[in-house]
Amino acid sequence: MKTLTFRDPEYPEFVATLNRRAIPSDEVRDTVAGIISDVAQRGDAALTDYARRFDHAEFGDNDWWVTADEFKAAEKAVTPETKKAIKASLKNITEFAKRSMRKDWSYKNAEGARVGERFVPFDRVGVYVPGGKAPLVSTALMTAGFARAAKVPEVLAATPCGPDGRVNDALLYALKAAGVTEVIKFGGAQAIAAMALGTATIRPVDRVFGPGNKFVVEAKRQLVGAVSIDLLPGPSEILVLADKTGDAKCIAADLLAQAEHGGDSVIGLVTDSQDLLDKVTLQIELQAATLSRGDIIREVLEKSSFALVVKNLDEAVAIANDFAPEHLSLVVAKERRILKRIRTAGAIYLGNLSPVAVGDFLAGPSHTLPTGGGGRSFSGLRADQFQRRTSIVKLGEKAVARSLPHAEEFARIEGLDAHGRSVAVRIEQPAAEPAPD
Ligand code: NAD
Repeated sequence: MKTLTFRDPEYPEFVATLNRRAIPSDEVRDTVAGIISDVAQRGDAALTDYARRFDHAEFGDNDWWVTADEFKAAEKAVTPETKKAIKASLKNITEFAKRSMRKDWSYKNAEGARVGERFVPFDRVGVYVPGGKAPLVSTALMTAGFARAAKVPEVLAATPCGPDGRVNDALLYALKAAGVTEVIKFGGAQAIAAMALGTATIRPVDRVFGPGNKFVVEAKRQLVGAVSIDLLPGPSEILVLADKTGDAKCIAADLLAQAEHGGDSVIGLVTDSQDLLDKVTLQIELQAATLSRGDIIREVLEKSSFALVVKNLDEAVAIANDFAPEHLSLVVAKERRILKRIRTAGAIYLGNLSPVAVGDFLAGPSHTLPTGGGGRSFSGLRADQFQRRTSIVKLGEKAVARSLPHAEEFARIEGLDAHGRSVAVRIEQPAAEPAPD
């Protein structure tokens, strides 16, 4: 873990690097552009080639769909405890979603026109569920679960399968429970391209949702326009902002939990207490040695982890807002005061007793969150992103009369006299009928 205090000469330069912009590397951008163009041209044949190359899975003719029998077998194979956990999570997700969904509304504007908004679910959405390093069962719930709550009629899920052509049973059970209607066993940028552009066998969707590795995220970014997307949720991150009231054991456990996602995950601690940092460092060593994904964790600890001792909590807040972490764990005595000043975090966990993993698995808000500094521009996934919004306007005679002077003035400024006429014509007295000869 890279550890610095505000007195180190290297400190300002390192802190400046934490003010990130989510810009993909040229290499990832080019790789993904190649994959998208290949899927656009060769469709299903390209998908099966990439599945062979990246996932070591062989597909024949149109056999990349999860079948009804596979769903049934998964339901049988999954233990009652797993079903219970999935149902508990889905219940919270559904309740949370209900509260953030938008409802139709209208009011009369200053000229007396009734104006409002109507919300309807998207017709067909695509949900990506990562499956490279771990079967992310909770991700299935935290994306498709919102689609179900928003009553989206068609939900196509994509997730990579293993070399045996199978998808994890618990993941299949969760996808079914969350109401997906179709599942394709493709992963990576090619799966995003398939959902966005369609192929001979896969009907395209209207909007693509879900997290993934850097290839998945970049594919979503490049396909905006062909479809809309939710946000750019990439490799997991956590920043812990703590003072001396932080519990080193809990903080280390949260940092390690995000590190075990591996890959390009980033973990960080910012504190004004050298004593806390020393204790957390020790706890990380002790706990990491007992965890099953030790190798993955060690790689993240060496490559992309940091711990900073700051001069004061004001500086810690500034660093947190610059970093815009996916998850922020805030453990400080003056919680309310500091919380008010945090603006860019995807999700905030308050106090020693709020494990990030509970939010990731079952608390209710989606764990699909912006990463790589994206928290400045994007919020985490919300249920209302599964709703399409349309504005509605209705005028009566009085509202037309009151709107007319302003409309005519705009028409004059913009040089669009047909616009002005189209308003005036509504309330003009009909011209007198010409007298018969
Ligand atoms: P994944 O399903 O995203 O990626 C696997 C796919 O990547 C493979 O199917 C393959 O097609 C493609 N791929 C692998 N190597 C490639 C290469 N060299 N070139 C082109 N394509 C390649 O699974 P993953 O890799 O385990 O990543 C999941 C990620 O999702 C993790 O980083 C995790 O942290 C992140 N995640 C983020 C959030 C969030 O909200 N931000 C939530 C859950 C998971």
